[in-house]
Amino acid sequence: MKNNKNILPTPTVFGGCSAGKSNLYIASDGLVYPCLGLAFPELVLGDVKKESVVDIWKKSPLLKKLRNLSVNDFEKCKNCKFKHICGGGCRGTSYFNFKSLTSYDPFQCAYFDI
Ligand code: SF4
Repeated sequence: MKNNKNILPTPTVFGGCSAGKSNLYIASDGLVYPCLGLAFPELVLGDVKKESVVDIWKKSPLLKKLRNLSVNDFEKCKNCKFKHICGGGCRGTSYFNFKSLTSYDPFQCAYFDI
C-alpha cells in the first residue's frame, strides 16, 4: 500500500478496541465492516466492488466515530479502576450484547472480576 503513513492511525498504548484504527473486515462478498466482531448489516461501511478500501478507510463517518471513542465515553467504564488497562474492551462485544457502540464489554469485566 503506497503512502500508508497518511491513512494509518498512531497506535495507542492501552489497547481497547482496534476497529477502524488498525482493523477492518472485508467479507467475501466485498462488503466492508469495522472489524469481524462488528459485521452487522447496519454497520456496513461500503463495498469494495464499488469503491476503494482506501476511500472507505479515509471517508467512513462510522470509522471516524470509532476512532474518536474513548473509554471515558462508556458509561460503566468511565469510573472503572481498570479502565486504563482494559480500555473498555471490544466494541463488537458491546454491540452484540447491547446494540451499542458505547456500552461495556462483559467479557472484559469478567476477566477483571467486576
Ligand atoms: S473492566 Fe468492564 S467496566 Fe472496566 S473498563 Fe473494562 S469493560 Fe469497562
